[in-house]
Amino acid sequence: MSKGQEKHQKRVNELLMLGKDLARRAHSKCELCAATGVSLAAYEVPPVPAEPDMDKTLFICAVCSAQIDNPGKMDPHHWHCLNTSVWSTTPVVQVMAVRMLERLVDSEGWAQDLYDQLYLEPEIQAWVENV
Ligand SMILES: [Zn+2]
Repeated sequence: MSKGQEKHQKRVNELLMLGKDLARRAHSKCELCAATGVSLAAYEVPPVPAEPDMDKTLFICAVCSAQIDNPGKMDPHHWHCLNTSVWSTTPVVQVMAVRMLERLVDSEGWAQDLYDQLYLEPEIQAWVENV
């Protein structure tokens, strides 16, 4: 195995070790869309820390993670879940939810309304902008 692959594998293993704690925090539901009965995986929210940190990691379904990574393939209908997740008391969930909402504000009326109601703590706002 190359050095790069080794490093990647180490990261994957460390994230797997967080899985149990993440599942407990998420109550086995996708932390963004609340999907149940689907497989959930750790998703590190940028900026990614040097060491894996569950406070910087989401536990989400494949539909959410695929659309986070492919803004061009976003299905606005799926993201009505943000009506709930932008109010999450788990900071990393709230940060990612707000970032996703920001992608929709220009095209979706409901997203604009929700965005207007949003009040973020200064440290959450700073994290949202720290991409
Ligand atoms: Zn999801």
